[in-house]
Amino acid sequence: MQVYFKEFVYSTNEHLQLVDITEQVTTFVRECNIESGISLVNSPHSTTAIIVNEHESGLMRDILHKVQEEFSKGNSWLHDKVDDNTDAHLASSFLGHSKTFPIKNGRLYRGTWQNIFLLELDGPRTRHITCQVMGE
Ligand code: ZN
Repeated sequence: MQVYFKEFVYSTNEHLQLVDITEQVTTFVRECNIESGISLVNSPHSTTAIIVNEHESGLMRDILHKVQEEFSKGNSWLHDKVDDNTDAHLASSFLGHSKTFPIKNGRLYRGTWQNIFLLELDGPRTRHITCQVMGE
């Protein structure tokens, strides 16, 4: 079994933003030359999420709108007294910091409309997203 690891750095420029990272991740998986295995896309941050869905501008705006609606500010969150970003921590907690994909025939296996996004919840910031590939 082989194991590969890569880190990608993104500078977000909005408070709430979707960054499509599909191209970098799928290219890295191809370069690993693994025939069959597993790929883990991970964000080591407490105010981001990794989500998977269609790269359609209307839908992307809808997703951001829904996140804002569900995880709104102004609920007297205790953590807001520390650094005023509880909404971002809550969204990250419930949406999740990683996604796993199968690798089949040397490619990251995903649906046609499944793009991989870094969801920035407390930007702008510099974010480090990792991809670990295991297989043979
Ligand atoms: Zn915080």
